Amino acid sequence: PFEEVMRLRQEHLTPALLTYYEKPVMLVEGKMQYLFDEKGRRYLDGFGGIVTVSCGHSHPGILAAAHDQLDTLVHATTIYPNQEVAFYGKALADKMPGDLSVCYFVNSGSEANDLALLMARLHTGNYDLIALRNCYHGGSQSTMGMTAHGTWKFNTPQGFGIHHALNPDPYRGPFAGHDDPATAYANDVKELIQFATPGRIAGYIAESIQGVGGAVVFPEGYLAKTYDIVRAHGGLCIADEVQAGFGRTGSHYWGFESEGVQPDIVVMAKGIGNGFPLAAVVTTPEIAASLTSHIHFNTYGGNPLASRIGRAVIEAIDNDGLQANSAQVGSHLKDKLIGLADKHSLIGQVRGKGLMLGIDLVTDRTTKAPATAECAAVWNKAKDLGLLVGKGGLAGNVIRLKPPMCLTMEDADFMVAVLDEALTQI
Ligand code: PMP
Repeated sequence: PFEEVMRLRQEHLTPALLTYYEKPVMLVEGKMQYLFDEKGRRYLDGFGGIVTVSCGHSHPGILAAAHDQLDTLVHATTIYPNQEVAFYGKALADKMPGDLSVCYFVNSGSEANDLALLMARLHTGNYDLIALRNCYHGGSQSTMGMTAHGTWKFNTPQGFGIHHALNPDPYRGPFAGHDDPATAYANDVKELIQFATPGRIAGYIAESIQGVGGAVVFPEGYLAKTYDIVRAHGGLCIADEVQAGFGRTGSHYWGFESEGVQPDIVVMAKGIGNGFPLAAVVTTPEIAASLTSHIHFNTYGGNPLASRIGRAVIEAIDNDGLQANSAQVGSHLKDKLIGLADKHSLIGQVRGKGLMLGIDLVTDRTTKAPATAECAAVWNKAKDLGLLVGKGGLAGNVIRLKPPMCLTMEDADFMVAVLDEALTQI
């Protein structure tokens, strides 16, 4: 059926679809960290369906909860009280630090970021939003406006009042090698506010670790300094945890926690549902009071099935010790990848935290010229050797490793062996 599927895909699905690999792989089944194609060939899933399958494909506990809820009640909308969304709201709020205790449920990261922007504007009465260059926040009109990556820019208005500060990338950013990059980049946010806005802003949004942008981790202290500047100009601080949340970074449940900051609004999607379409915005009671009934309505958001699955995901992360596993296996994997750099001069930098890692490939370590073609070759070759990985960064030269968090040490060793072999072959 492979040829038939490809033909139907070409005839009836959007021509905008991005299809991975020179020879695409048709997946028919998933079991925890493994995927199987139509010929029964097994792949280690090093990308988790773009950082979405957090606990594992067909995770038994999550499946059992979903089956039970399918048999009971799938949907009625939140206009009728139902225990599932109430229990889920409590379970999610219990995972949040400080007074982040009010949940809004939606279906995708784009919707969630749209809502976060609306919240910040309504609460502050200000309009302008600061985002970062190299970020990805979604595919709706306003979130495409937030996203700063040429691939998603078109000759049509995409969001208004959105400004992009310099990307605090310690490796490739303009202040790479600066003796205090955190302050230098935070000052750029201050200047942007002064030059591009009336001096009062609605908010500032950043991923805790940039995902699509290529696993970029900001200089230590940058977010804390920037949050102070944003708040001094009346803005709310929005953390986009769509990729870095739910224990993936290993050291903390939320990516922002390792930066020692407390956001006003947290946006989550992807890993929140282990593959089921689910997303949320969590904020404080004070901010939530600016966005009361009728301003926000979402037909599917918080339906009983989504809520039950969302709660089962939280339980699976806790019961299976997935955050600790991300820390342990992630640090083993990162060490081994750093070791590979001794052998392969294509590796410019290995970065990231927990099981959210990136390998920045360069043709020259001094100029850091992106090795885009070589990255594509490694990524294709890894697939042929049984490992699926992602590709990202502005120049498409970063291998992205974001497997389900149930990855074992043996799986990590297999990943390293495959990448070693792929790098050697190309
Ligand atoms: N924020 C981040 C950090 C993302 O990586 C993405 C998706 N790649 C989104 C938001 C948008 O999520 P969705 O595709 O579910 O709309």
